[in-house]
Amino acid sequence: MLTESTVIHGEMFDSHCHLDFQDFALDRSEILSQCSEAGVKHICIPGVSELSWSNLLSIVSQPNLPVSLYSALGLHPYYQDEHQHCHLDKLSHLLEHEKESIFAIGEIGLDFALPETNQESQLFYFDQQLELAQQFQLPVIIHARKSHDRVLQRLRKVEVARGGIIHAFSGSRQQAEQYIDLGFKLGFGGGVTYERARKTRELASSLPITSIVLETDSPDMPLSGFQGQRNTPLQLPLVAEAIAALRKISVAELISQTTSTSCEILLPKQLD
Ligand SMILES: [Zn+2]
Repeated sequence: MLTESTVIHGEMFDSHCHLDFQDFALDRSEILSQCSEAGVKHICIPGVSELSWSNLLSIVSQPNLPVSLYSALGLHPYYQDEHQHCHLDKLSHLLEHEKESIFAIGEIGLDFALPETNQESQLFYFDQQLELAQQFQLPVIIHARKSHDRVLQRLRKVEVARGGIIHAFSGSRQQAEQYIDLGFKLGFGGGVTYERARKTRELASSLPITSIVLETDSPDMPLSGFQGQRNTPLQLPLVAEAIAALRKISVAELISQTTSTSCEILLPKQLD
């Protein structure tokens, strides 16, 4: 089990990685062994639809994994057309009966960049899952595109005491500060390696270090120089290096702080 001393030794935490996707079907265990050697010792895998949950739960419960895997379960707005009301009941049932293996509700959220999306339906599933998070005292992992103000409005209305992570944050400073005031952390990934991502780089370099966590969002969001390739959690050290350079601090310090923040949000019981 994780203790505070393991965190101090520079273990990296990928707070958002879709390692359960088909993209990793052929070499998942090889990637995990390489992650372990590279110091990426903790990975949170968020589920995206009801269909994904059982595979995800079986991946994280394999014996003798070289990396600690933590599952989150949720209904992602991108897969809106697949969601049914009965999936919320199933989620609630799993939260009750698989407590030990579910660390967060996610990936949930609002994506208003999607063409022809049904915003009302997105809002319905988002609110319902926020309520489940509060009911089961779990943090949430949030996807927000062109929707930060609506997400903030919902978070003020439906209290989520355990907070959570706004993944791949790309909003404004003011929105970042509002999330932080509500107890949320902001996830930064490969986006910070692109020179043109000025606003995101500026925020990754200047927000309080205690409010940021690292992620890859693999297999998506390839780093600069790796466009068109599958992203993997093995790229996390490069994300850490990029943010440490922007903040002008050592990589070790950046890793120690962000891993401890990921643990604080996702694994508070282990740190008690
Ligand atoms: Zn994701």
